[in-house]
Amino acid sequence: MNLNEMMKRNYSKELSSCSDEEIYYALLKEVKELASKKTAKNPAKKKLYYISAEFLIGKLLSNNLINLGLYDDVKKQLGEAGKDIGRIEEIENEPSLGNGGLGRLAACFLDSIATLGLNGDGVGLNYHFGLFRQVFEKNAQTAQPDRWITENSWLEKTDTVYDVAFRNTKVKARMYDISVTGYEGVTNKLHLFDVESVDESIVTEGIDFDKTAIEKNLTLFLYPDDSDENGRLLRIYQQYFMVSAAAQLIIDECVSKGSDLHDLDKYAVIQINDTHPTMVIPELIRLLNLREIELDEAIDIVSRTCAYTNHTILAEALEKWPLEYLKKAVPQLVPIIEILDDKVRRKFDDKKTVIIDSNDTVHMASIDIHYSFSINGVAKLHTEILKSEELSHFYKLYPEKFNNKTNGITFRRWLMHCNPELSEFITGLIGEAWKKDASELEGLVKFKKDKKVLQKLLDIKAQKKLQLKNYLYETQGMEIDENSIFDIQIKRLHEYKRQQMNALYVINKYLEIKNGVKPSTPITVIFGAKAAPAYIIAQDIIHLILCLQEIINSDKEVSPYLKVYMVENYNVTNAEKLIPACDISQQISLASKEASGTGNMKFMLNGAVTLGTEDGANVEIHQFVGDNNIYIFGDESDVVVERYKEANYKAEEYYKKDKKIQKAVDFITSGKILAVGNKESLERLQHELISKDWFMTFPDFESYTKAREKAYKDYENRLEWAEKMIVNIAYAGFFSSDRTIEQYNRDIWHLDK
Ligand SMILES: *Cc1c(COP(=O)(O)O)cnc(C)c1O
Repeated sequence: MNLNEMMKRNYSKELSSCSDEEIYYALLKEVKELASKKTAKNPAKKKLYYISAEFLIGKLLSNNLINLGLYDDVKKQLGEAGKDIGRIEEIENEPSLGNGGLGRLAACFLDSIATLGLNGDGVGLNYHFGLFRQVFEKNAQTAQPDRWITENSWLEKTDTVYDVAFRNTKVKARMYDISVTGYEGVTNKLHLFDVESVDESIVTEGIDFDKTAIEKNLTLFLYPDDSDENGRLLRIYQQYFMVSAAAQLIIDECVSKGSDLHDLDKYAVIQINDTHPTMVIPELIRLLNLREIELDEAIDIVSRTCAYTNHTILAEALEKWPLEYLKKAVPQLVPIIEILDDKVRRKFDDKKTVIIDSNDTVHMASIDIHYSFSINGVAKLHTEILKSEELSHFYKLYPEKFNNKTNGITFRRWLMHCNPELSEFITGLIGEAWKKDASELEGLVKFKKDKKVLQKLLDIKAQKKLQLKNYLYETQGMEIDENSIFDIQIKRLHEYKRQQMNALYVINKYLEIKNGVKPSTPITVIFGAKAAPAYIIAQDIIHLILCLQEIINSDKEVSPYLKVYMVENYNVTNAEKLIPACDISQQISLASKEASGTGNMKFMLNGAVTLGTEDGANVEIHQFVGDNNIYIFGDESDVVVERYKEANYKAEEYYKKDKKIQKAVDFITSGKILAVGNKESLERLQHELISKDWFMTFPDFESYTKAREKAYKDYENRLEWAEKMIVNIAYAGFFSSDRTIEQYNRDIWHLDK
């Protein structure tokens, strides 16, 4: 690719005299064309449809350049013309098509599917405003529409349009495509359906809009507020809109390839990512039945075609809808769901496995489990808990369906793109092969006593910390000491992830420094998290952290030793800057509650050391790196599960007997915080902790504090610390999503290459 010629063609001027914006749009066009040339010429007969409510894909320019093998050349040509590829990337808006780990997983999977040359597309919705853009005002989160679509973007309008009918109205679903490039692989598609009659102007204050205006609002927001009935109905409308269009697409494509639909499972496999796409099962059954396939056979066909991934054991997150709602929104599915339920009831006695329960509530996961051929959890521990606890009633019925697929991340984005310095250094040490086979990274272990290598690793980390400092100063006005320990917790805000426990530690540290006990190396604690707007306690936790940020950073006695920052609007773009600069990766969820986590893997790969509980994939990280290269603390999952069963946990007892907990919790409503914060919010949070502490931060607090202090102490010996870093990088190979996808394909999808 000759950029000078490209710019002359597009704008009749030299590259050096083009603006960053002109260069971005020319590259966008060029890369789209090059990507489409890599579409498989003779795609395999069978195709995977990965249906997901979210695809948190991140910016695409650099990622696509890397995957197409053009990145280094483009960067060089730009540099020679006095242009910086980093600045050009800034022109691109990050697509707001996802929310957290589940959506990011879907994006990593698409990358690996294309990289491995498999025939598989993503199917989802084209949200115009995403979840929301987070803006801090008065130490609190506010929500704005996260508008990302511009006239020219990676989205390509297609001619594919389907009718989707609801009880009261009928809408048109138009398909837009984004090319998914593989690393030295093929180009697949992410299909995003958009309602043709969408109307952005109905959004008024912040993210408020008329939830009943279905024709206009279906594809405005991801996860609209479901705290009222109209919000819950809207989620059903959205889900049905997505899966009805998906089902029509699947049938069309399979028929055009020669399927007579009786053999649908030879042409398609559908991966249902969490319960949001569940209605694809009854919808496909309905559509097959309309095409003259007997109901029983249709049910069999669909069950052979669908596979389900479970992402959570939090009972409140397993979707249930009142049958009444389905009757209001999508009555055509109700008789099918009733038949599915009836079949279950005839076959099995266990009432815990029914689809429609005695309150006329529909359990979406039950549909998935009875009527798909595979059910997988996303980390070893998670799958074991599904089998022994959450889904044990189903496991008894279908042991053969259950399997584990430990999550992974794409190393193209989470190392090659976000940390080219480390990436090059690794290649210098062990060669290029790790880029295609991540297990090759284990070759790094032999350098763990090599002082030169360890020093270079520390130098790269220092460089990434300096880059982050500059980035956060430019974009958010933060002033960070690059020589401090970067201690980072970035992930969605949820009580089970326990940002509140991290904040309690920070309070104690602050009080300690006030009392003259100063850390040897200054500490920078960084948070990043969006909270669902209707999740009040999560808002309160953000409020506490922002208040601490104001108090601590402006305290002249303390701030040379401790600073706290919460980055605004945590997203993939921020993550790519934060993760390579991190020293300590906080993965502190209550054991048994985090299904897998993937942030933990990104940090490990970039040489951060984990401070974490034995939860999700932390367990597997621990097994790989060994006790010396990770800081594990807290009660293990069996203890936690037992404590919930006994239902006798009393937070107040811990609060009364543990002075450290008491001091930290009392501080939440101290004069100092109330001077910058909101009394109602802080008192509510404090009361919640003392009276409930549902995710059990107090029982783990002492061991958390000890482990964290130990990590800070160990950090003082930098060469020994660097040894921990290199061991983490070396064993990160298992957590490549290429490995995960190989396993999905081997055990579930059976696609030909
Ligand atoms: C990886 C990622 C997540 C998931 O983080 P966890 O720590 O696994 O919860 C969430 N958001 C973004 C932007 C990510 O990149």
